[in-house]
Amino acid sequence: MNTLRVPVDPWNPDPAVLREAAAVLRRGGLVAFPTETVYGLGANALDADAVRGIYRAKGRPSDNPLILHLACREEAERLARPTPRARSLMSAFWPGPLTLVLPARPVVPAETRGGLDTAALRMPDHPVAAALIEAAGFPLAAPSANLSGRPSPTDADSVWEDLGGRADMILDAGPVSVGIESTVLDMTAEPPLLLRPGGLSREVLEDFLGVGLGCPEVPSARSPGTRYRHYAPFVPVWIWEGGPLPEGADPGRCGFMGLTSPSAPFARSLRFDSPENYARGLFAGFRAMESAGVLGIVVQWPPASGVGLGLRDRIRRAARTGAEDDSAASASLGL
Ligand code: AMP
Ligand code: MG
Repeated sequence: MNTLRVPVDPWNPDPAVLREAAAVLRRGGLVAFPTETVYGLGANALDADAVRGIYRAKGRPSDNPLILHLACREEAERLARPTPRARSLMSAFWPGPLTLVLPARPVVPAETRGGLDTAALRMPDHPVAAALIEAAGFPLAAPSANLSGRPSPTDADSVWEDLGGRADMILDAGPVSVGIESTVLDMTAEPPLLLRPGGLSREVLEDFLGVGLGCPEVPSARSPGTRYRHYAPFVPVWIWEGGPLPEGADPGRCGFMGLTSPSAPFARSLRFDSPENYARGLFAGFRAMESAGVLGIVVQWPPASGVGLGLRDRIRRAARTGAEDDSAASASLGL
């Protein structure tokens, strides 16, 4: 497949380019586009064949459901059955990095839902994403635009690296602003369950709702995506919590990423001046270190507050080597 890569102005995308991308989507094709969290690989969420194309292109397990991206809040009523509490979250935090899991209406194909009876909905906060969904006229199913298991793409080069030849079109609007995926909340549970920490912090949500969020004992049961090793570079990732370096991590041949540096000099090093910038740079950092030829990456464990909880989740799963007890893993996040 020939993949067309088109530059677009992030604030003021060219309507002709959007029309062309919308036509590709209408034909059942795949268009990678920027959101504020990471780049997504979009297809018509209401067309089962188009959605199957996403799973094929990414090599994604078909029981891992997709998030439906909307251009307006009203669309949520047509696709799902929001509770009053879900509606108040939409008013407060959409557009933004918050995905709500709600009882699905039959119009959402089983392929999009990964066979579940719920649908995950979000309204992205990016002018290109909003304009593309608007131009298409239907919601876009859009997982991150990477090969399954690889670090999510935060710029178009990363999308190209994984999906060049596998997507019809890539809209290149430069680097994203948040850098990790949305927070996923299951609104069918009482209190709502934090299925995936992400761009919107747990503290902000709990303050707003006035309740503590539940955390799944075994994340895999309700959110299939949390079951897989994910976000991982090809080289090993070690978590560093301060003190001596992890065993096997030879600084002379490894990279380091984090908020403060250990005393040993690393072959490559990326230091971030805030957890927000750490989140923005994590995935691109993984890819850059890998291309630089390091033998492994030592990654500093961030504080659990704010975006740090989502960052911990991505780091933990990138560092994971095999089957692991999920409840122990969620305890290690501080959940
Ligand atoms: P991605 O699009 O790759 O960022 O992954 C989407 C995440 O949302 C995965 O962790 C999915 O398991 C989760 N998800 C999507 N739809 C649902 C749903 N209906 N119920 C629970 N989790 C969902
Ligand atoms: Mg993903």
